[in-house]
Parts: sequence; structure tokens; C-alpha cells
Amino acid sequence: MGPRSPVESRVSRRDSEDVRRKQLIDTTILVMAQVGFNATTLGLIAKQAGVSTGLVAHYFGDKDGLLEATLRSLASRLSRAAASRLRAASTPRARLQAVIDANLAPEEMDQQTGAVWLAFWGQAIHSDRLKRVQRIYQLRVLSNLRHALGQLAPPAEAERLAIIIAAIIDGLWLRTTLAASWSPSDAEAARRIAAGFVDSQLAASMEGYAMPSSPPVPAAPPLPRYPSWIGGRAAPDASAETFVTANPATGEAMAAIEIAGAAQLEAAISAARAGQRLWARMTGVERGRILRRVADILRARNDELAELETRDTGKPIQETRVVDVVSGADCLEYFAGLAGGITGESVDLGPSAMGYTRREPLGIVAGIGAWNYPLQIACWKSAPALACGNAMIFKPSELTPLTALKLGEIMTEAGVPDGVFNVLPGDGRTGGLLTAHPAIRKISLTGSVPTGKRVMAAAAETLKQVTLELGGKSPILVFEDADIENAVSGALLGNFYSAGEVCSNGTRVFVHRSIRERFLTRLLERTRKIVLGDPLDPATQMGALISEAHMEKVLGHIARGVAEGAKLLCGGERVTRGGLDRGYFVSPAIFDGCTDDQSIVREEIFGPVMAVLSFDTEEEVIARANATEFGLSAGVFTKDLARGHRVIAQLEAGTCWINTYNITPIELPFGGYKLSGLGRENSRAALDHYSQIKSVYVALTDVEAPY
Ligand code: NDP
Repeated sequence: MGPRSPVESRVSRRDSEDVRRKQLIDTTILVMAQVGFNATTLGLIAKQAGVSTGLVAHYFGDKDGLLEATLRSLASRLSRAAASRLRAASTPRARLQAVIDANLAPEEMDQQTGAVWLAFWGQAIHSDRLKRVQRIYQLRVLSNLRHALGQLAPPAEAERLAIIIAAIIDGLWLRTTLAASWSPSDAEAARRIAAGFVDSQLAASMEGYAMPSSPPVPAAPPLPRYPSWIGGRAAPDASAETFVTANPATGEAMAAIEIAGAAQLEAAISAARAGQRLWARMTGVERGRILRRVADILRARNDELAELETRDTGKPIQETRVVDVVSGADCLEYFAGLAGGITGESVDLGPSAMGYTRREPLGIVAGIGAWNYPLQIACWKSAPALACGNAMIFKPSELTPLTALKLGEIMTEAGVPDGVFNVLPGDGRTGGLLTAHPAIRKISLTGSVPTGKRVMAAAAETLKQVTLELGGKSPILVFEDADIENAVSGALLGNFYSAGEVCSNGTRVFVHRSIRERFLTRLLERTRKIVLGDPLDPATQMGALISEAHMEKVLGHIARGVAEGAKLLCGGERVTRGGLDRGYFVSPAIFDGCTDDQSIVREEIFGPVMAVLSFDTEEEVIARANATEFGLSAGVFTKDLARGHRVIAQLEAGTCWINTYNITPIELPFGGYKLSGLGRENSRAALDHYSQIKSVYVALTDVEAPY
């Protein structure tokens, strides 16, 4: 395994569009450093990057869009650097220094980066878009300083000092960057000056003041370290690379996770081989009895697991308590019930022979999960796999590994034999090892379309079966006779549940022109009341997005929507008030006046962003709803049920709803058409994807041979 950081590895597996965007942003930085802000044009960047100007315009709209994306990229790189230094700092003074060091790091001052930052700061006064990014950046620095100072100085002083230190950082950065001959040691000198100034200010502010005698703050305990779960037990590897999983609502580091490499995979394969032999020899009823116990334990530990899921994903506890664990338990219970009924059939071949089929397991199968419903995805994949008598090796997303590891413990506690369910945490590299391994007979992936294509191509090498649950850009069709209140409820659920991080979301809401005004009025009234806040507060209805990088991506989509002429009716901003500044919160956004060609209407955003479109006729809206490469879901709202069925039959989507949205009972198959995926999860249909059929011909008479 190479020494890649989790961030780098995430970048490396982003879809090719993201990679291209990033390359164009890097080129913009280069070009701006050479020719300055005014002379930077889309044409020049295209030429330097060796692509057409049209392609640059396709990704960023116009020059303003490109420059905003570039500034966002610089600012988010800087705040990631600050967050990582803050995580490593164990005292308040060290945290203060971490903010200073991140902002005065040599890489922020070298000639190229310094020139580009300067150009942006100069332009921000002329551009609302740049000003907004700059404001967010400054607020973030201030809030980090304020937080560290809170434990070093009296409250009023902490506020004053935060403002002064921020100004000192800006001043030192400016002086150093503008110096005629710059060298990295200048950055070091700037940091020393800032540190000396901070110490003197702290000493002065403390004169005659005694901090309230609170008990000394104990040093932060070391992060718990979680290894792979192999053969029914934790399998630590002291030499493993680790990544840190953090709470996206607070930035708090929660645990260090060992990245499973080739050695762990081999150990999991041999444990799975042994476990599967035993497991497949049990009757379906015996397997079902054990899987049922897994469901019972999940239900008994619902609140504890929901809280862990909320901390790892940023989703509100209001959701995780009633959906995430419960839907996983439902799935185990359902397949536990089916396990005893997985049979072949007997085939009548006349008096001289009989035939029968056996439905047999595939052997060892692998599951790879996305980060939005970590526990539910682990259950949706493992329950049918195990019911059929397979062993599973599951890789959770590196952003949310904790509940899948808990599921490993629970499986063992319930009596699933060792090796039948293994968890190998890691990043795309671990996923790549799974797809390449010849002993694994099937891969079931939940993830993005580009990852799906990569997994399928890699699986072809060893002719593995694949089930792919991929992305979507699904339509909701609201006809003129729809119950408006229900349709608004469906649109809200289909866009803002889990902060919009749901694959099947109906993000293109087509509303019949005659009811548009009424629909929008209620939609806005109800959206404005959505309670966004601390995900652990039971009153919170919308929590944080999964990561800073994802938040920036979502904000970038919103900015492009505005640039392309859609009307932002509400939301779409990062929310930092009330202590939310350490997390990645974005207010629910509604765009009106959208057209089918806008990027917010074509591309999956995976955030709280709804696009409302108008239509006139049934035929027209069906054609427009189908005009996408995706085909995961679709919803129709109408009181005319004949129309409901007629329209649904013409929509190119695997999972559809009439007069509701995003309900996924375990009894119904779930999956996509077109680029949204292959195969189905849930229902009896899932059993076909985790088993293979053996045909047996039994002769009842002597063998007739012509020889
Ligand atoms: P990704 O495609 O980025 O990642 C999905 C999983 O694949 C992760 O565990 C990831 O590892 C892993 N992975 C990445 N590269 C490889 C590789 N080359 N080989 C094998 N595995 C790899 O998706 P996200 O996690 O960002 O999830 C969001 C996407 O998932 C959205 O497009 C969404 O629509 C889709 N999704 C689909 C659902 C459905 O049921 N149809 C449900 C939920 C989400 P790691 O992240 O650890 O690096």
C-alpha cells in the first residue's frame, strides 16, 4: 500500500468529472499567478490545460464561476490543514498556535499561492461571490481562535484577542508575501512574531484576573483504535496505516481506524472459507434463527447504535432512531424468515428421468458501502447474502466505518459462526483489493456511478457477479389534480431527508404550471420551518453534510445554479450560527425557474438542493423526466390513479412511488435502471443475486448408449 492520506485517496477515486475540475482549478492557479486576475481568461486556461474553452465553460459556467471555485478550493485546503493541526493539538495554547501555523504556513505564502490569494483578496470587494467565500473563511479563522482562547482568557478578552490575533495573522501574511525576496524561513519568522505577540497579549489580559477555578482540563485521551473484524474477533495490526473518522457536525475526531490491506484480506478470506463451509451446511431454518437474533439485538440496542450513526454521519437523531437501525433490523428479520424457504424445484422429465434444481450459495461475497446509510447498507447486503449461506466481507465507507464494525460484534454475539461476516475498513484501495480477489465470487456496491463502472470493470477480470446501487437524479411529477399538501410533503421528504444525501431523492420536481404558485407557496412556508442544528438534539430535523469537501461540492453546485440563471428562492448557504461553525451545515435550498439543461437539473448533487420545473402536458413531462442517464427512482402525485399507473409504466426508473416518496419497505425490490445500477436489493429478488442454481438430471432407467 502506498503512503496516501485518506484525503488524497478520496480525491483519487472521485469521478472523472471531479478530477477534471480539479485539474482546471490547478491550472487556473498557475495561470493567475503568471498573468494576474484581469488577464486570466477561460481561453487561456483552456489552452494551458490542453482542452477546449467550451469544456471549461461546461464545468464552471463563466470566468466568475471558475474563479469562485478556485477560491473555494484554496480556502477549503487551508481549513483542512487547520483542522488537521487542531486535531493534533492537545492544549488550548497549542490549538491557538495551530490556527496561526496553518495560516502562516510556507505553502500559503510561496510566490505562486501568495500571488493568487492576493489577487482574490483584491477582487473580493468587487464581487459578491468572492466576498461570500472570503467572509466564510474569515469567520472560520475567528471561530477557531475564539474557541481556543475561551480556555485561556476571560470571555470579553477572548473575543477582543481573537479579533486582534486574526488581524495580526492577516498583517504578517501580507507583509511576508509582499516581501521582495521570499523564502520559507520568512514564514517561520512570521509565526514566531505572531506567537510572541500572542503570549504577551495573553499575559497582559490575565493580569489581576484569575480564571474561574475549573478543574484542570485533562489531556485529550488517545483516540480509540479500531481494527478489522475477522473471524469473529477484532484483528489488530500494529503496523497498519490508519485514518481518522470524525463527527461532521463538530469536527471532533472519534476514532482511528486501521486500513485493511492485502494481509487482512487474506486472513478474512481464509476465515470466510472456513465459516462459510459450516454456515452453508446448516439448514435455512437454523441460519434464519441466528439472523433473527441479530435483528433482535439491533432493536434492543437501537438508541445506542442510532447515536453512534448520528455522530459518524451528522444525520439527526430524529432520523437514525426510527430509520437507520430499524430498517437494518427489518431486513435481517425478513431474510431470516425467507432463509428456510430457499429451495430449488423438482422438474418432471417423463417416466425415464427426473430433474431438480438446487439453489446454492455463491461462496464468499463482498459488500462495499457508501457513507449515507452505513448500518442499513451493511444489513441490506449481508442479510440476503447470509440467508443464502454465503460468507460476507464488508467494506464500509472510510467516512463512516463505525456501525458496520459494531454489526460485526453483534453478528458474533448472535451466534453467526466465526468468519461468516467480516468487516475490512479502508478506502478505495481496500475496495480495489476486494474486487480483484479471485476467491470472492460477487461484489455488491452502493456508491457513485464512476465507482460502479470501475468496480464492474475490475470484477470482469475474475468474472464476479455484481450488484450496483448507484446514483440518481430522479423526477417527481406533480399533476394538476394532486393533493398539494401531500405533494409538498413528498417533495420535502424526497429532497431534504438526511440533508438530501439519499440516492433515490426526487431532486427534479416537475409541477403542473396551473398549480405552480400554490405549490411553491406551501413548499417555501414549510421549508423555512425546517429545524437545522445539532444532530443529537431530538428537535433537529436537518443535520450536517458528511464532510467539508462534500459541503464545498454542494455549495459549488448551488453557485453554478445561480450562475446559470435559476432562481434561488431560499437557503443554499453554509450555516455557522449557534455553534454550528465547526460542522458542515447547509440550509435547504429551493431553485425555481429551472430549465432542463442547467447543471443543477442534470447532475446528482447529494445535498439539500431541490430544483422546481414547470410542465404543461403529460406526454411532455414523461419525456423530460426520462431525459437523463440515471434511472433510480420516480414519483407521481395525482388523484387520478389510472393516470398514476399509466405514467409510472412509462417512466424509466427501477423504484417508483404513486402519491408518496422515498418509502422503501424491505418486501419490495430496490434498484435502478440505466446508469443507476444493476441488480436489486431487498425482497425475494435479492436472493437471486446471492445464489446460483445447480441443475440435476436423475436417470430412472438404464443408460442407453449406441456404443
Ligand atoms: P463512492 O462511489 O465514492 O464510494 C462508495 C464505496 O466504494 C466506498 O466504500 C468507497 O471507499 C469505495 N470505493 C471507492 N473507489 C473504489 C474502487 N476503485 N474499488 C472498490 N471500491 C471503491 O460513493 P460515496 O461513498 O461518495 O456515496 C455517494 C454515492 O453513492 C452517490 O452517488 C449516491 O447516489 C450513491 N448511493 C447510491 C445508493 C443506492 O442504493 N442506489 C444509496 C446510497 C448512495 P471509500 O469511500 O472508503 O474511499
